[in-house]
Amino acid sequence: MKIVIVGGVAAGMSAAAKIKRDNPSFEVIVLEKGLETSYGACGLPYYISDVNPVEELLRIRRAEEFIKSGIDVRLGNEVIKLEPNNKTITILDENNNEYMESYDICIIATGASAIVPKLEGVNLKNVFTLKTIEDANKIKSAINDKIKNVVIVGGGYIGIELVETFHHLGKKITLIERLDHIMQSFDPDMSDHIKTSLINQGVDIRCSETLVKVEGTDFVNRVVTDKAIIDADMVILALGVRPNTSFLEGTGVEMLQNGAIVVDERMKTNIDSIYACGDCATIYHRILKKNVFIPLGTNANKQGRLVAKSIKGEDFRLEVALGSAMMKVNNLECARTGLSEAEARSNGINYGVHTITAQTHAPYYPDSKEIRIKIVYRKPDKVLLGAQLIGEKDVAWRMNTLAVCIHNEMTLDEISLLDLGYAPPYSMPWDAIHIVAQSVK
Ligand code: FAD
Repeated sequence: MKIVIVGGVAAGMSAAAKIKRDNPSFEVIVLEKGLETSYGACGLPYYISDVNPVEELLRIRRAEEFIKSGIDVRLGNEVIKLEPNNKTITILDENNNEYMESYDICIIATGASAIVPKLEGVNLKNVFTLKTIEDANKIKSAINDKIKNVVIVGGGYIGIELVETFHHLGKKITLIERLDHIMQSFDPDMSDHIKTSLINQGVDIRCSETLVKVEGTDFVNRVVTDKAIIDADMVILALGVRPNTSFLEGTGVEMLQNGAIVVDERMKTNIDSIYACGDCATIYHRILKKNVFIPLGTNANKQGRLVAKSIKGEDFRLEVALGSAMMKVNNLECARTGLSEAEARSNGINYGVHTITAQTHAPYYPDSKEIRIKIVYRKPDKVLLGAQLIGEKDVAWRMNTLAVCIHNEMTLDEISLLDLGYAPPYSMPWDAIHIVAQSVK
């Protein structure tokens, strides 16, 4: 059996390692157009800020290690064409020579790339996107004392994480968001708390403002929006990602409008012998019961590992995605899981919402902080559908607990009596999770 995997980072290498471990006799080839295999993109903001100054720590497993385990890893090899009818792919090697490979099974794990708008000035020096270690090194080497004003375009996870990066480095930050609130996976009433907190810390956040062009001679020196002209010594474009699937055009592989490959709960595409996983593919949403695009490392690792089971014919369906995500920005921890109110509304669900503010732990024990929790529940049976949490500490474990509740379709009445642990440094006899569940009558 000859398995060809296109793309060799989180999803691709998870798939390759598991397939080779389970089936030592299979020929497993990984074609990766870049020069890195599995690395932690999620760690790049902390590498740029020097919270972690060691580049090597970002590399989880190098190509040589995979090669030692019998996987044929070919770096600098880009797949430019796929022909499902004769099960072949065309590859451009590191010397720009074309060659072909046949496959019995092809797994596409090509990820997604940062979106660069077609606007004047985006090619000026000191205008960056962030996706790879190479991108991070370019940003890192451009940072010096002369870089005072940093403009971040896009208020999603990566844009907001980079606010922390540049805040840590003592830069003046302006964040531009085209929509009316930052952090679209949170409802506005929750994301406004993040915004207010960042404004109070000196970050200039401009919502409902659109990038028009970037100006400068050689190096960027200002950014023009539809409302203002802003000084900029460095610009980071964090406008979201687009799946790397243009090489599939004309192959008949079904894709969403944004280019995400549609897969079923076993990572199979609509074409025989072609699978897809990670940021280039959809994932089945547990509550919405449909394919959605949620490009996260959590999903990429799971899909990559499980595609191996799928190929083996094991019986399972990956129906777990809730869009659970967490992030830290300066002194705030923000986390969300399941449906936001906006998602419940747009999917025609009969829902209710409730928001509370509680203490993280007993106020008589030092460092107790406020935590704000918004829940979305189904009516009339009060099954928990979603949660958004913001606070200065202990947000992540509470979100994960609520994710388990949502996964198991628990009602608020059940959650309100969960046997959660209590000791004064950690919680209260009635934890914030109990309180939010109890407060819906
Ligand atoms: P990728 O990591 O993008 O790998 C795909 C590979 O395919 C690439 O190396 C690419 O070169 C290669 N490729 C593309 N086209 C071809 C081709 N035609 N031929 C050959 N090779 C090709 N997720 C979280 O869950 N939590 C976080 O905190 C988090 N933080 C993040 C912070 C940053 C700054 C970034 C950039 C991402 C973050 N993510 C986070 C997202 C996470 O990194 C991605 O979801 C994950 O890397 C996706 O893995 P993947 O294998 O699907 O794709």
